[in-house]
Amino acid sequence: MSSLDLRIEDILETAVYELDTVISQEHADQIVELLRTKDKRKLDDREIRSRLALWYKERTLRNRRINFRKLDFDYTIECAAKLETVTLEEKRSIRRVDLPYCNQEIPTAPHEDLWAKAPLKDFREEEISWVRSGSHRVEDCHKCHRTGEVRCKRCNGSGDEEDRCMRCHGSGRIDKIGSTRGSETRTCTRCRGRGTTTSRCNRCRGTGDVTCPTCDGERILFTYEEIVAKTDLQSEQKLVSNLEHLNVKWLPPSSLIKLDHSSFPTPEITPETTSIEVGKQYQLRFFDVHQIKFWHKEEREILLLDKEVYPIDGSYLRDWRSIIYLGVGLISLVVVLYLLINYLNS
Ligand SMILES: [Zn+2]
Ligand SMILES: [Zn+2]
Ligand SMILES: [Zn+2]
Repeated sequence: MSSLDLRIEDILETAVYELDTVISQEHADQIVELLRTKDKRKLDDREIRSRLALWYKERTLRNRRINFRKLDFDYTIECAAKLETVTLEEKRSIRRVDLPYCNQEIPTAPHEDLWAKAPLKDFREEEISWVRSGSHRVEDCHKCHRTGEVRCKRCNGSGDEEDRCMRCHGSGRIDKIGSTRGSETRTCTRCRGRGTTTSRCNRCRGTGDVTCPTCDGERILFTYEEIVAKTDLQSEQKLVSNLEHLNVKWLPPSSLIKLDHSSFPTPEITPETTSIEVGKQYQLRFFDVHQIKFWHKEEREILLLDKEVYPIDGSYLRDWRSIIYLGVGLISLVVVLYLLINYLNS
């Protein structure tokens, strides 16, 4: 068994452990076999060099051009796995529906428990509701206390509506005839200085009450409950590899092998339960990871992991030089400013 084979098995085992799931030995063997025999998406020399050159070009603090065509390199292609766990949760609640009573028939059915209907096992977010059987009742309207009317909201039951005075625009004062604007004023006669005028409320026609919108004036309600079921998805991603520094953003979109697995444990439900974890869905994807080491003629090394490059020997890319240049520039500027201020003050 080669070291690479071992690595694939390690990755699979770690992934399955992380997923907290069980896959059969047969299934695991199949996956390992597929990964071993798969034609990996190898990069050719030209592609490797152009990737590195492209990456280097995008760096802002580079200090000189490197001719990547002239570098030597070592290339290995490895395997990593990305795990995605999606948890399906369902919340249930009761919604009361009130309708005016108009001699509707009251269905007779046994009372339905909140979780009598099986939870939704679709891995998507949705909200559905249905009538709770055995919940129908006829009762006095609780909004108007069986009067059929409620207080008018527009006039707050007064029957009058206050409007801004049109003549004085709400100020209560108007200019005296012949005076310049605002210099001499007198009390507005239309609103008597109040700034507002009173008129009969349009909504309740001055009575202060309106027909109860809940029972539509019927005084009695036909009421029932609805069960509202809302599903929620939580997803978590993890990466499994034997490579240091490996980050999910470098992974190419193409997947090698995809393993889908769902589990639905039976939750314990009590009359107080409003939310349960319905199930978990697992996805396991394997990826090619390209690891490339470059050598410069001065024996300095760069490591390329997929789209990212790591200088093994920090001196090679010499970013620190740019920082020194910047530092010296800033210090010079401060000195010049200091001299200038001294000169102006003297
Ligand atoms: Zn007025
Ligand atoms: Zn009113
Ligand atoms: Zn009512």
